[in-house]
Amino acid sequence: MERRGRRPSDPEALWKEKDMSRGEAVDAMVLILRTSGCSWAKKRGCTMCGYNAASSADVTPDHLRAQLEKAMARYDGEPFVKVYTSGSFLDDREVPPDVRDDIYSAFSGCERLLFESRPEYATRDALSQAPKNATLALGLESSDPIVMRDCIAKGFTPADARRAGVDAKDLGLSVRSYVLLKPPYISEANAIEDAVATGIYADGFSDEISINPVNVQKFTEVERLWRAGEFRPPWIWSLIEVMSRLHGNVSARVMSSPSGGGSARGVHNGGCCDAKALAAVEKYSFSGDADDLKVDCGCRGKWESYLRAEAMLGTPADVDRCVVDGMAIRTR
Ligand code: SF4
Ligand SMILES: [Zn+2]
Repeated sequence: MERRGRRPSDPEALWKEKDMSRGEAVDAMVLILRTSGCSWAKKRGCTMCGYNAASSADVTPDHLRAQLEKAMARYDGEPFVKVYTSGSFLDDREVPPDVRDDIYSAFSGCERLLFESRPEYATRDALSQAPKNATLALGLESSDPIVMRDCIAKGFTPADARRAGVDAKDLGLSVRSYVLLKPPYISEANAIEDAVATGIYADGFSDEISINPVNVQKFTEVERLWRAGEFRPPWIWSLIEVMSRLHGNVSARVMSSPSGGGSARGVHNGGCCDAKALAAVEKYSFSGDADDLKVDCGCRGKWESYLRAEAMLGTPADVDRCVVDGMAIRTR
């Protein structure tokens, strides 16, 4: 990944990776534009989101064009281009319509152009301006309105996201929905159920369902809870459980590309099998073959004990910090 410093004329980051297009694994370029920032982060912000650090109030349309020019200098004709803004690509205050048009035409020749937006900016009008190779990425997060409001503070409802997804599909675009695995304030077991239910809800308007395990970002409400021992990022076993339960029950491709996997702040098991389990998740995300999700490790039993201990104690706190070898309670 290339990070180019903090000048408003520099993209926040740019890197190359693999993703899927037309059923094949292809090269993809990921461009994170530095913009003036997410409108919701300025008002309240989601409990797990620290993306505001990637924005700058000084960014002008000319800066955005300069960022695009720098990205084009690095573009090697990858079939899949993903343009993120750490906010909403379709928010005119972040990316003015004429800059958006420049981006659309710069990547008009690629197979897929993905951008992310909150639903209030993904209006039929805005979506109809997008080229037909576009994929709308939606931070649906949860199909439970109470989880959306009280645990995530998302500032929109699942129905709002659904409306945007249905409109995008109706206009011939494709949709990738992000499902949050383990918002704060709910137990690991409830988080699994919530993510499975959300994946099934998303299937009605999504070509792809991306499971996003919460990772602890700096200066967020989730970080405060994590430091106090009141939040543990999800286990990789939970991620595998969600993907396994969605497999065969949804038509959309199920995938996950976790940030910070294997670290204390990211989705993790016990350190014994994290790399192997994450490799299984990645392999499945490309193959769609349920056999690729099969992983063995003794710590699976510890995860099962964790789920039981949480239920017994009636808390979503980090039981891992006070339970040793199964069920013995340690004082902190
Ligand atoms: S998660 Fe998305 S909508 Fe929520 S504050 Fe972050 S950038 Fe904004
Ligand atoms: Zn293990």
